[in-house]
Amino acid sequence: MYLDLNPQLTPTQTALKEETHRFAAEIARPASVELDKLADPQDVVKPGSVFWDVWRKHYELERHLAGMPEEFGGANLTGLDMHIVAEEMGWGATDFAVGLGACGMPFSMGLLASQMTGNQRLMDEIVMPYIKDREAKYIGCWAITEPQHGSDTAAANMPEYLNNPAISLDTHGRRDGDDWIINGAKAAWVSNGTIATHAMVHFAVDRSQGPVSTAIGLVPLDLPGVSKGKPLNKIGQRALNQGEIFFDNVRIPDYYVFVPPELYPLAGDMILATANGGMGSTFTGLARAAYEEAMTYCKQRVQGGKLLCEHQLVQRKLFDMFIKVESARQVSRAVVTYNALAMPPVSRYGVASKVYCTQVAFEVASDAVQLFGGMGLSKECLVEKLFRDARAALIEDGANDTLALAATRSLIDNFL
Ligand SMILES: Cc1cc2nc3c(=O)[nH]c(=O)nc-3n(C[C@H](O)[C@H](O)[C@H](O)COP(=O)(O)OP(=O)(O)OC[C@H]3O[C@@H](n4cnc5c(N)ncnc54)[C@H](O)[C@@H]3O)c2cc1C
Repeated sequence: MYLDLNPQLTPTQTALKEETHRFAAEIARPASVELDKLADPQDVVKPGSVFWDVWRKHYELERHLAGMPEEFGGANLTGLDMHIVAEEMGWGATDFAVGLGACGMPFSMGLLASQMTGNQRLMDEIVMPYIKDREAKYIGCWAITEPQHGSDTAAANMPEYLNNPAISLDTHGRRDGDDWIINGAKAAWVSNGTIATHAMVHFAVDRSQGPVSTAIGLVPLDLPGVSKGKPLNKIGQRALNQGEIFFDNVRIPDYYVFVPPELYPLAGDMILATANGGMGSTFTGLARAAYEEAMTYCKQRVQGGKLLCEHQLVQRKLFDMFIKVESARQVSRAVVTYNALAMPPVSRYGVASKVYCTQVAFEVASDAVQLFGGMGLSKECLVEKLFRDARAALIEDGANDTLALAATRSLIDNFL
């Protein structure tokens, strides 16, 4: 039994953990392993793929509402609850965990903004259909990265980046009466990019209409002028669909632009804090999965006349892996718990969790491959997949080096 240093879970939290673990172990992980074998990412999302079985089950069980308030069918999860869900999902399949997690972002952000401003039309037209969905018909994505702007956006809260004309987003919006006209392209890295029905699009306000600034709009992707690229072919996280989205004079009403320029610095920082905190929790789960695989193997495999786990150098390695998994859990859990109550959530903590836990996941998965010996390189072994999935995480949601630079700027500025 894996030791968890925070065992004081309420009966409700224990049930949440067990229920999420069942979904991760019986539905998400087998599908992720099966899809990982597909050479063409287009096949991952084709009709009839097991990919859709996971998505539909997620909605059918109302797991897509988990982050929503209770009055909208949500589970009113605390920070610790959210950590439990993310860690278990990451243990099972980080690709599904990230795709299903990113899916809800436009709708939960839209809900938050609507509640704050009384934007009922945004609620009725976009948020409520998602809340009522039980078949995965409404799928969201977070479209910030562009072909020419990756780290620029992840570091957007650094003073030298914020509102810097030299690096402002290429995707831009122009006001036209009560509408906005959006033009530009988002990168092939957007999670759920080719399957999404709605995108939360970060865009620069057209330079002809004032000083350099950024806003966020909700764009239904069936509008005239929207087109998409092919699913991205990449290393790891096969069941995370990704792809480009193009906007050619796409017209959206003003009330879909739920983060106006004056609120962008705050909203951008909140999104970074929350998304990075979720990444830290999710990849703690991957690290734990790799540790468990390694321990199980070392208790079975005999070399030099005794089990691997009886060799002292192996014991030392297992202990180091254990320390890393436990410390990743402590960091990511503390950050999510803190940020769930902080208003606004603190992005440097979210970044600390993401940078630390994804690095731990990568190191523990690499050690697990090493302990499996040649078997660790075999496609038959889960650790081979975990290693590739963990590698992508060092870039996903912001390259770790760039995120660290942005967070350090915040540390320096806030040190009194
Ligand atoms: C699996 C996955 C999922 C993703 N999901 C999404 C998503 O849902 N939505 C979305 O919009 N994007 C998503 N992304 C994109 C991701 O956020 C970007 O890939 C990331 O921000 C890095 O941008 P880039 O790839 O353009 O690299 P670049 O920005 O070109 O960086 C290249 C290298 O240069 C380094 N570098 C850049 N600037 C500096 C600097 N100032 N100082 C020092 N080093 C620097 C970086 O650290 C990096 O190592 C995803 C990416 C991956 C891999």
